[in-house]
Amino acid sequence: MRGFSRLLCCLLAVLLLTGCAAGTVEVETEPDPEAETSSTQYLEAMDTFMSLTAYGSVRDEALEAAVAEIQRLEALFTVGSEDSEISRLNRSGTAVLSEDTAALLGRALEIYESTGGAFDITVYPLMELWGFTTQDYRVPTESEIQSALALVGSDRISYDSTTSTVTLGQGQSVDLGGIAKGYTSQTVIDLFEEMGVASAMVSLGGNVQCLGCKPDGSPWRVGIQNPAGTEGTIVAVIEVENQAVITSGSYERYFTDEDTGKTYHHIIDPATGYPSESGLCSVTVVTSDGTLGDALSTSLFIMGLEEGTAYWQAHSDEFQAIFIDTEGNLYVTEGLESVMLSDETYTLLTK
Ligand code: ADP
Ligand code: MG
Repeated sequence: MRGFSRLLCCLLAVLLLTGCAAGTVEVETEPDPEAETSSTQYLEAMDTFMSLTAYGSVRDEALEAAVAEIQRLEALFTVGSEDSEISRLNRSGTAVLSEDTAALLGRALEIYESTGGAFDITVYPLMELWGFTTQDYRVPTESEIQSALALVGSDRISYDSTTSTVTLGQGQSVDLGGIAKGYTSQTVIDLFEEMGVASAMVSLGGNVQCLGCKPDGSPWRVGIQNPAGTEGTIVAVIEVENQAVITSGSYERYFTDEDTGKTYHHIIDPATGYPSESGLCSVTVVTSDGTLGDALSTSLFIMGLEEGTAYWQAHSDEFQAIFIDTEGNLYVTEGLESVMLSDETYTLLTK
């Protein structure tokens, strides 16, 4: 009898194990004695300052792996470095891409389609013309803008995702600067998760992405910068778990024309060739997909409040957003209402 009941127990255990849908087994794990202990790593990469914080007993090796991963991705994507995969593509016009560059280019082309061309990585000749690539800023002439504009249009890129082969249109060059940091924060968060980190937050030049919640179970709190205030002042705090919070702002990188006093920022409207004048000065996107968040913060900035709101209404299962216009008015999509803390009055955007 005892032998039979033991057999029954074994059978039951096998059934329970094979019954798990994803093929994984919940194992009772010992609580991590260092769950509330954190380490932070600072680094400069991708033309910006980054900070990475991870909690738990594997935190130090996870941070070391993350830094190596960021440097590996930087070497692939940086358009300003001659040896990067993107620079080589820009020189030769065609390439078979490595896995990460292929994945990122594929997403960039998808988002070009879905945003009606607002997000367009072929704006690179315009970035060069305005001096954003060399910091040798100047206002181009109208005819220079028109010549560079003739090279813009991701619809002229041919890309075969099965072979990862890309061919640019004649004279075209691409710049992943509007999406690469989001892809990188997403990659770091995925890496942390694979290594067994339960709680982490990374900030890549203001692109924030969180893993899990804080070790005490409370959500992460991310501040939204006041575009009109001195650096460091915020207009709102949002509480998030497992989300990226990514802002594009005209106050981030710009120059002032000494003759006219007019300022020009680095988010280029592919329809005009000029820095976008959509009436917005900051767009924050909150989403579980860091790559999407980065590309959309740039895209919604260009679309402006009205078109951006319509885009959100059609894609509200993918992200939430905060828009700040040049008058300082705040507009917040309804999914953020319960997680946003702010003393400012704001307009709630609904579906
Ligand atoms: P930041 O990199 O400062 O966080 P963004 O994410 O908004 O800001 O990206 C701006 C960068 O995106 C520019 O520096 C340029 O490399 C690139 N870019 C500018 N305009 C566009 C555009 N219309 N579509 C895609 N990328 C763009
Ligand atoms: Mg962006």
